[in-house]
Amino acid sequence: MVGASVASLLARSGFSVVVVEGREPEPFDPDLPVGLRVSAFSPAAACVLNEAGAWRQVENSRHCAYRHMVVEDRDQSAMIEFQAPEFGLERLGTIVENHLVQWSLWQALSMMAGVEILCPEEVESLEYEQDFALVELNSGKRVRARLVVGADGANSRVRELLGVAQDHWEYGQKGVVGVVGSLKPNPGIAWQRFLEGGPLAFLPLADGTSSVVWSCAEKEAERLLQLDDKSFLSELEWAATGSPDHWPGELNSLGPRAAFPLTMRLSERYCGRRAVLVGDAAHVMHPLAGQGVNLGLLDAAGLTEILIQARQKQADIGSEKILVKYDRWRRSEAEVMCRGVHTLRGLFMPESLGLLRRAGLGVVARSWTAREAFMRRATGQNGNAPAIAKGQTLTSLLHPA
Ligand SMILES: Cc1cc2nc3c(=O)[nH]c(=O)nc-3n(C[C@H](O)[C@H](O)[C@H](O)COP(=O)(O)OP(=O)(O)OC[C@H]3O[C@@H](n4cnc5c(N)ncnc54)[C@H](O)[C@@H]3O)c2cc1C
Repeated sequence: MVGASVASLLARSGFSVVVVEGREPEPFDPDLPVGLRVSAFSPAAACVLNEAGAWRQVENSRHCAYRHMVVEDRDQSAMIEFQAPEFGLERLGTIVENHLVQWSLWQALSMMAGVEILCPEEVESLEYEQDFALVELNSGKRVRARLVVGADGANSRVRELLGVAQDHWEYGQKGVVGVVGSLKPNPGIAWQRFLEGGPLAFLPLADGTSSVVWSCAEKEAERLLQLDDKSFLSELEWAATGSPDHWPGELNSLGPRAAFPLTMRLSERYCGRRAVLVGDAAHVMHPLAGQGVNLGLLDAAGLTEILIQARQKQADIGSEKILVKYDRWRRSEAEVMCRGVHTLRGLFMPESLGLLRRAGLGVVARSWTAREAFMRRATGQNGNAPAIAKGQTLTSLLHPA
């Protein structure tokens, strides 16, 4: 999602782009059941995907906008609610299957002038020749470029070739994901409850079902995956409901389940010689704040803006000065988010003091300033966000008044 967005934004800005991708996405079929991987896209991320030429197709297909978000403590002793209108927003976010976003971007890229797609191909090695990087691919082909953008995910080969180390937060946790139906359809609320083992989230889908992410210890996740559907639904219902009259109440259908490891990683540098890192290649987030791909899309927008400005000043887009600017901006943003999510997660774990947690939630729930600051960052519209994420168009950046 992030790499294709960078490629599209740069090509639309007049740069020549070569995309190297290991696997072409399958065409998205809205008649198939909802996929296991969905993400909550912030309004800022939607602006970026719009400028990348993919959001219209997403809006014309299966998606669910949500205007209401609830975060609560495991015993419901503390709760924070957010409603879109109180922040002057039409929506807090949109739940979309990752596959639909990948397919929409791929289609946009396939039709774009200035883009060459090399797929299936994999990056093998990185060498240099004067003012260029040479990327060697597994087929033996070589790509010569002024700048290499490593958007190759959590196990990034580009990051490895650049020798960039990372800070790791290992939680020994997995996120069990699945799509569930409930007797009372999900009324379009993104709801999260912090349980003993980790957060449980219900994200609303267009047909009233919910996409569930249940974070728990690895062993517990394996146990949950082994359960038959009826037992899983009954454990999920208990975990989600706690009391008989609490939403979502009775759960009545379940699609396939899977579990994904949950970690947090922050690269110590976002750039190397004639190369930068974006998205999960640069940072991996715990999904409790639903910010991983959102932050990655803001990297894509930020990098595009820096490269447009560099070209306007006739600077070399792969020069150290330009790349350090990107590194400082985007790494500091990811650091704020990573450390914030880490603290939030710690606050809700059983070892944390319940009183402190409730006091903290209470302060946020009652203070308009704290709620607004939280929401501005979650929707990607804080002061430091790229202009594209705040709704500015590529055209206005390319032709400033
Ligand atoms: C359970 C769960 C729930 C989540 N929910 C949310 C959410 O609600 N909101 C949110 O913002 N984020 C969420 N995230 C995080 C989000 O899924 C990731 O941040 C996002 O998918 C990362 O996208 P990416 O494009 O950076 O990397 P990837 O999706 O990993 O893409 C990397 C691409 O690089 C290609 N590639 C890899 N190696 C090579 C190579 N050597 N050569 C060529 N190509 C290569 C791969 O084929 C792939 O296409 C969630 C994560 C999990 C685990």
